[in-house]
Amino acid sequence: MTRVLDNLLPVLHTKDGPFTRELLQEPGKFGLGMLPAKSEPQATTQSVCGYCSTGCGLTLHLRNGEASGLTPTTDYPVNLGMACPKGWEALRVLQAEDRATSPLLRDGGRQPREISWDEAANTFVKRMRAIQQRHGPDSVAFISTGQMTTEEMAFLGAFAKFGMGTRHGDGNTRQCMATSVVAYKQAFGFDAPPYTYADFEESDVLVFIGSNPCLAHPIMWERVMRNPHDPKIVVIDPRMTETAMRADLHVAVRPKGDQVLLYGVARLLIENGWINQDFIEAHTHGFQKFVDFVQPYSLEHVEQETGITAHAVRRLAETIHQGERVSFWWTMGVNQSHQGVRTAQAIINLALMTGNIGRPGTGANSITGQCNAMGSRLFSNTTNLLGGHDFANSEHRRKVASILEMDEALIPRELGWPYHRIMEGILRGEIRGLWVICTNPAHSWINQHFAQDVLGRLDFLVVQDMYTTTETARMADLLLPAAGWGEKDGTFINSERRIGVIKKVTRAPGQALADFAIFRLLAHHWGCGDLFRRWTSPENVFQLLKELSRDQPCDFSGIADYGAIEAAGGIQWPYRDAEQDAGTERHLFSDGRFFHQDGKARFLFEEPRPLPEPASEEWPFTLLTGRGSASQWHTQTRTAKSDVLRKLYPEDPYVEVNPSDARELGILPGDLITVRSQRGVLEAKVHVASTMQPGQVFMPMHYDVTNRLTHPTFDPYSSQPAYKACAVRLEPHA
Ligand code: SF4
Repeated sequence: MTRVLDNLLPVLHTKDGPFTRELLQEPGKFGLGMLPAKSEPQATTQSVCGYCSTGCGLTLHLRNGEASGLTPTTDYPVNLGMACPKGWEALRVLQAEDRATSPLLRDGGRQPREISWDEAANTFVKRMRAIQQRHGPDSVAFISTGQMTTEEMAFLGAFAKFGMGTRHGDGNTRQCMATSVVAYKQAFGFDAPPYTYADFEESDVLVFIGSNPCLAHPIMWERVMRNPHDPKIVVIDPRMTETAMRADLHVAVRPKGDQVLLYGVARLLIENGWINQDFIEAHTHGFQKFVDFVQPYSLEHVEQETGITAHAVRRLAETIHQGERVSFWWTMGVNQSHQGVRTAQAIINLALMTGNIGRPGTGANSITGQCNAMGSRLFSNTTNLLGGHDFANSEHRRKVASILEMDEALIPRELGWPYHRIMEGILRGEIRGLWVICTNPAHSWINQHFAQDVLGRLDFLVVQDMYTTTETARMADLLLPAAGWGEKDGTFINSERRIGVIKKVTRAPGQALADFAIFRLLAHHWGCGDLFRRWTSPENVFQLLKELSRDQPCDFSGIADYGAIEAAGGIQWPYRDAEQDAGTERHLFSDGRFFHQDGKARFLFEEPRPLPEPASEEWPFTLLTGRGSASQWHTQTRTAKSDVLRKLYPEDPYVEVNPSDARELGILPGDLITVRSQRGVLEAKVHVASTMQPGQVFMPMHYDVTNRLTHPTFDPYSSQPAYKACAVRLEPHA
């Protein structure tokens, strides 16, 4: 606890200035979390955190069977007794006044009125069916989340696609992880992050690209801090982030210059013979073409395109060469890009050519965002058929139909539309009914005005959420009240492929139901309850998911049940054999075999594309967006409910500006300034920050106004939105 605080204190803020250890002493003001009183009974149970993909273990302290407090679990192999402020406050946000406690129906533009679950389910079925009858089965769609349990995701995907008969559904994981999914599938043959968190402690060189774990994944950063090998830390990021401040080498690449830089580093490694020829020959495909491709990426070319000097590129290549166990880590700075997939693969190429994969302390490692993004990637029935299968593969369809005891003809033969095509489909009038589950597109979707306009055009918008006040819930025709983390059972899969169990430790308020129960109710009213006759509880569904995973790279059929997961402290996939030690940490590719049929990984590369909206005379600044603090989560639907968390970050939207730009504009810290892009305008407080490069500004994504500005372009392979770079103007107030 002391150690985690020491590392977090530099990145925490209060409304009145930096957060200090002394503030913790103020009684009743900043007491972290819902720590149990010493005199309380000692009954406890285990769960994993419901915010980020780190998947920390939390010990829930019970009084009369209900949670009265929590502490981080000391022997859970992920967090080893640590938690960030969000985890400590996980119970408190359940108690908010704006919890949805009964179904709400708004008809005819009037105030929403409370209705029964029976009426809500009948309304859902009647309105969605009427749309489908008039406009076709694909005229309704769903948008879900990386925050529900795997069992719930599978239920939703199966009900919508096999029961309701629509092809179109996607998740908010499209906004954060789709790029990694496609990059891995193409390069490795399956969506398979190869690492374990122990790698943070075993590397002698860690290269972070577009990743700020110090703030976005603080417990992973804690694992880096525990590394006993005095590792070299490299950060490639336009901003001097909190992680970059602790790095041996910060490479302040121009926004979206990372792909060119990585090709330049590859060329230098090849030129110097700093590659692992044996590994390349035995385990990869396409290297010679890659060698030819990177020839134009000279040091001069890289400097011209990225602003990085030849000296810094050489230092980066040398650092990689000198490492014996080099790990490469990337997050949203890479994924949320107009060329994210090829950039992620440029990272994978470096790991492959230097043989830094399949060994402890190595890997081309995508850090996931949400607590169950990895569950969504395998089981949401959106980007894959359940269990990482392929909708277009008849053998896969047969297997899934057989395990689920259903007619194979109910399974669509192709993928549905990704998120942005669903939004465009609404605009064209092809999609008329939308079901939004556990996410908030009216805030989070890129180019927010467009998103709100589109949602306003629907004939029928259903929102299923814990709270009535999200930007999207306020637009709903029908609101279905959902239970949150701590109020239901199920499993999550974390960033290192570890399956963990979450527990119901308190009752949801009013008539709110677990998402699982809502899907069951709606399936029954839709008339396809028989299809889901075995989907009676999350743990029963887990048994089906095990079977669906069998013989896939993600095979976890060796897990007996939830109890086995809990006893082992979470279990990483693959886990095929119940005889195997469940607690062992497992890297992928330790045998050098990848998931393509020939067992070889692919070198994949492409000429970089120009920035879709570069700065110009009229729009002279490049806006970068990202996480603002360790205490905020996405659209703040939950974190804003905690008095403690709210005190750890600035309340009002702010924009970080380089000191020389601030001088030129005549603005001072705390001034209100107008920030304008070609899509929208907002007001923000000025934070003058030498961490910013001149010509670049930064805004946290959590504030409800930030996405008024962002530019809607998408990676051509993953369809992930490019949130990270658009052109804006700063207008000082007179
Ligand atoms: S690091 Fe992530 S999983 Fe761990 S406590 Fe914080 S939010 Fe929860």
